[in-house]
Amino acid sequence: MKAKVVIAGGGIAGMTAAAALARAGSDVTLLESAPQFGEIGAGVTLSPNAMLGLDHIGVCEAVAAAGVEPTRQRIQHWQDGRTLVAMDRTGQRETYGAPYVTVHRADLHAILTGAARDAGVDLRCASPVVSSRGAAAILADGSVVEGDVLVGADGVKSVIRERFETTPPHFTGHVAWRTLVPVSEDLRDLSDFPGIIIGPGAMITRYNIRDFAFMNLVFFARQEGWTDDGWTTPVNPAELRQVYAGWCPDAQRLIEAACREPMFKWALNARQPLDSWIVEDKVTLIGDAAHAMTPFLGHGAACGIEDAVVLARALAQSESVSEALRRYQAARHERATFIQMESNANADRMQGQQTDFFGLEDMKDEESLGLFTYDCRTVPV
Ligand SMILES: Cc1cc2nc3c(=O)[nH]c(=O)nc-3n(C[C@H](O)[C@H](O)[C@H](O)COP(=O)(O)OP(=O)(O)OC[C@H]3O[C@@H](n4cnc5c(N)ncnc54)[C@H](O)[C@@H]3O)c2cc1C
Repeated sequence: MKAKVVIAGGGIAGMTAAAALARAGSDVTLLESAPQFGEIGAGVTLSPNAMLGLDHIGVCEAVAAAGVEPTRQRIQHWQDGRTLVAMDRTGQRETYGAPYVTVHRADLHAILTGAARDAGVDLRCASPVVSSRGAAAILADGSVVEGDVLVGADGVKSVIRERFETTPPHFTGHVAWRTLVPVSEDLRDLSDFPGIIIGPGAMITRYNIRDFAFMNLVFFARQEGWTDDGWTTPVNPAELRQVYAGWCPDAQRLIEAACREPMFKWALNARQPLDSWIVEDKVTLIGDAAHAMTPFLGHGAACGIEDAVVLARALAQSESVSEALRRYQAARHERATFIQMESNANADRMQGQQTDFFGLEDMKDEESLGLFTYDCRTVPV
């Protein structure tokens, strides 16, 4: 069926859903609170399963061209930098039908916004949703946008989720410092072999974006009791140096490069799984609004893209909105919850006390867990 769809939130999940739903013939209005459409100045990893979702809306190759396809990645020991595990990323297209891509979020988002616009979505920025009633979104200026179905894609602090539970997001005990650094000659070897340096209670991720001109760096650490939102939180370089004191020379070079750039500190907040993603047979959630997770499998955005495509397919194949939402939930809830739980477990695996033993047996990561083989374009709905 085709329906009048109102989407709250124009991030990666909401924009993908808007494009997918409109391409399937629905009449879509997307309401975004920010004054302009856009994304933060950081990178994102898109595994092949995410790229298959982008293929569904016709932008896989555009995103691949805007990003970088790594041929290899590695996990290094925090003390001496030795390689514990090396991942061969060649052949991703042949194996999974889509590339593995690392890309600047703003570049990805601009492509998604173009796809939604081309599909005829009514895109409205500066439109904060303050509450909802039935399938109608109520905006800060008091205006009401009515739909047959309301989709909450409004992130970890979702207003639409208040229809499902009143519990706020929780602080996970993890913080992250994020920045982009130019790839100068002295960082070239680290850019040539990107990956993660792991140690007890902390890790450092690096990957290339924008034609290898920049590396996206994220420094993760466990810290109790800090719940500020981040992004605008000023970073004290001394704190970063202290957290990673004693780490290997590769880590120190990344820290010094990061300290030369604007850097922001984030509290990582997440959600507990909900039993149901449906309210009143006409309201549902996608992306972080449904299942905000820790980023330790690099799959939050991927899950949001998968949700978006499956929701659009479910609606297209159903006779009613309530049937579509039931089919969407049946197809997506178990996988998203599994990834939420495994993301937490991966922090424990990667940031355990015994770094020496990492990867010696039963290595579990996003690829070995089988996450890459999921095809949201064809999975039964
Ligand atoms: C450090 C870090 C690294 C990560 N790395 C990866 C990775 O490599 N790969 C991966 O797949 N995932 C990764 N993730 C997770 C990923 O960033 C998120 O899962 C994803 O961005 C969520 O997208 P979303 O559209 O659901 O939510 P959001 O990105 O939060 O978008 C929500 C949108 O809704 C808008 N909004 C909010 N409230 C309202 C309102 N009331 N009314 C209207 N609009 C509203 C917001 O302005 C925003 O535009 C990472 C996360 C972190 C923290």
